[in-house]
Amino acid sequence: MTRRGIIHRGMFPGSFYLANTAIFRYINGAEPLTTGGNVQVCLLASGSKGNAIYVETAESRLLIDAGLSAREIGHRLNAIGAAPENLDALLVTHEHRDHCRGLGPVARRWNVPVHVHHATREALPGVGKLEHTVEFDSGDAFCLRDMEIQTVPITHDAVAPTGFILSTADGNIGIVTDLGLATRLVADRFQKCRVLILESNHDEDMLRDGPYPWHLKQRVRSRHGHLSNRESADLLRQLHWEGLEAVFLAHLSETNNSPQLAEACARQVLGQQGNSSARLFIGSQHRHSDCFAW
Ligand SMILES: [Zn+2]
Ligand SMILES: [Zn+2]
Repeated sequence: MTRRGIIHRGMFPGSFYLANTAIFRYINGAEPLTTGGNVQVCLLASGSKGNAIYVETAESRLLIDAGLSAREIGHRLNAIGAAPENLDALLVTHEHRDHCRGLGPVARRWNVPVHVHHATREALPGVGKLEHTVEFDSGDAFCLRDMEIQTVPITHDAVAPTGFILSTADGNIGIVTDLGLATRLVADRFQKCRVLILESNHDEDMLRDGPYPWHLKQRVRSRHGHLSNRESADLLRQLHWEGLEAVFLAHLSETNNSPQLAEACARQVLGQQGNSSARLFIGSQHRHSDCFAW
């Protein structure tokens, strides 16, 4: 039973028992989220035109980034059986528009507290007045209802880009997108996640031969740009853990990548790790992903 036997660091009494007895399910996004399972994860949107992730536990409903309009975020939440008015918190990874476009309206319309790095708060582009913000510093950890949130600094061309590890009684969810380089810190901190949301932005050949101007190709490839399929697969290799059950590939470029290429890279690694039963989800700009629930 080691596969689902996740011993938490002690925040949640009884978590080992919970993790072992949790019924592992996979539901299609069209089904309501409330039909069982303690934890659900869904990419509402993913890519350079807008990003938002939804995570629900027994006691918490979180949005990570709000890169679509509030109206569209509301629609997509409704489509998976969730409700924007029930959101408990909004976590912000960084200030780029594709992660913050709907931040102000989401926070105000549904009265959602915004958890944001203090430097990112200063750099947010015209989000308007935010009634309730909770600022964190690089590397901080904090509690949100039944979760502990660890922040992990990453490299990207933003003021304080951040990855998150959401620790729940039923295992950890690692979220790391918009990074130019998988640093040693990232490879260290994101170990033993039951669910990983990893950037798999571009195919290196497609980027090289594609239509982007030279300076933009350089930016994407740089240490402060985006992770390629190969680099994402390398990170996945370093994060080898038999307890990994689902991988969401995120922030795919519509110009310099294809879902098939990204998926093939990740599948190869999972196969080499003897974990071909792990679920693989590909984020899209145009619709929410299927949900992973357990
Ligand atoms: Zn982005
Ligand atoms: Zn970015």
